Amino acid sequence: MNSIEYQIIAIGASIASISFIRTLRENNNVEKVLLVHGEDRLPYKRTKINKHMVRGFDKEEFRIADELWYADNNVDLIYDRVINVDAEEKVVSTKSGKVYSYNKLLLATGAASVIPKVLGLDNDEIHGVQNAHDVDRVLDTCSEKQRFLIVGGGVESVETADQLIRKGKQVILAGRTKFPLQKLFPENLLTVLVNKMHQKGVKLFSGVSVNHIKKQGDSYMTSLQGETIEFDVVIACAGAVPNTELAIKAGLKVERGIVVNEYLQTSDKDILAAGDVAQHARGIVTGLWHSAEHQGKLAALNVLGKPQKHTLPPYRLKTEVFDLFMFSGAYENVMPGVDEAVEETYGDICRTMYYVEDRLNAAVFINDKDRAKVYQQALFERWNKDMVNEQLPLPPKMSFAFGASLA
Ligand SMILES: Cc1cc2nc3c(=O)[nH]c(=O)nc-3n(C[C@H](O)[C@H](O)[C@H](O)COP(=O)(O)OP(=O)(O)OC[C@H]3O[C@@H](n4cnc5c(N)ncnc54)[C@H](O)[C@@H]3O)c2cc1C
Repeated sequence: MNSIEYQIIAIGASIASISFIRTLRENNNVEKVLLVHGEDRLPYKRTKINKHMVRGFDKEEFRIADELWYADNNVDLIYDRVINVDAEEKVVSTKSGKVYSYNKLLLATGAASVIPKVLGLDNDEIHGVQNAHDVDRVLDTCSEKQRFLIVGGGVESVETADQLIRKGKQVILAGRTKFPLQKLFPENLLTVLVNKMHQKGVKLFSGVSVNHIKKQGDSYMTSLQGETIEFDVVIACAGAVPNTELAIKAGLKVERGIVVNEYLQTSDKDILAAGDVAQHARGIVTGLWHSAEHQGKLAALNVLGKPQKHTLPPYRLKTEVFDLFMFSGAYENVMPGVDEAVEETYGDICRTMYYVEDRLNAAVFINDKDRAKVYQQALFERWNKDMVNEQLPLPPKMSFAFGASLA
């Protein structure tokens, strides 16, 4: 079959690809790009979708760029799915039967929700929140269903629980670990979160696996820690796995994700990978929006012949759930017995700062939202303890001055 020729093709239309294209254009590259989009609406900010379930959202609301941007930037955005990449012939084939050839290819296919194997249920009875379409499906159920079981204890689970509670739903959250968000925060901070979740009416089951669900009419039941639980909707937020099928078909090196070097190059010199699908040094798959954006930029610089090395910035995550602002920075670096943990509280602020040889190694806190950027800078620059105490005092300077004037 004849192929349609492109110099550059990007598969997966989300932040990694858009940042890739933006960087090409900022550097005066004008070659037409084919952007293959496997979803049903203009590329959108995925981070928003599960945080706006209370009011719902329309199809265009969170778009990354408007429709004109694609035309203005010489991008052919097509709604299709790539089903094969032939790295020898340098062609991709799509579900609709089209074949396109490339000179350079970006794989930015992101990640897909892990759907836990639950005996007694078909996969399509388990809802996810990975895509806007998934969230639309959950919202559709909200008009008539009241009781939700969320399986998983990660950020998406807790954010989704928060939204459903705010929508007036009954929520049961069942996770494998002792606390939700256990990979991101220490127990003293998680106790604050868990207490809030209980106050708001979430029923929490910790250290459990949901293995079997029984259907009974329009609803479901399972047994957790000896208790029979009934619910109407199951949502799985049990993590995500990189979408590596195309890379495997293309014969690229794949482990957890598509293995890339510090220039986002895969094992094929003309194929790059960026974002949630890419696996970096030490087996790291980043799973964060700003990180995917940065990788898209570096992949473009590589294509432009101006390669820049990718270094992984400290992992940081911010979330606002159950009336708490929560920040986790580089917590995966913490080694018990090696890091010195300094725990402090003031009013509703709780924080633990971790130091190695007097340098800030990780920081986690609740409710110090206005200074989040300063914490971030402290982590990036690895401030010493004196600098942290001077620039990020607890009590914060403003509150202290206010308190002092009252006294
Ligand atoms: C609900 C939710 C909330 C999140 N919240 C946050 C947050 O608060 N902060 C944060 O930093 N990160 C958050 N993340 C993670 C963040 O969204 C991702 O890190 C980021 O979207 C990754 O971007 P990406 O470009 O790598 O790929 P994705 O955004 O995953 O997009 C990949 C795209 O490729 C498409 N695709 C896959 N295979 C094919 C194919 N064969 N053909 C065509 N298209 C294909 C997919 O359908 C998808 O549209 C959240 C993720 C989710 C799911």
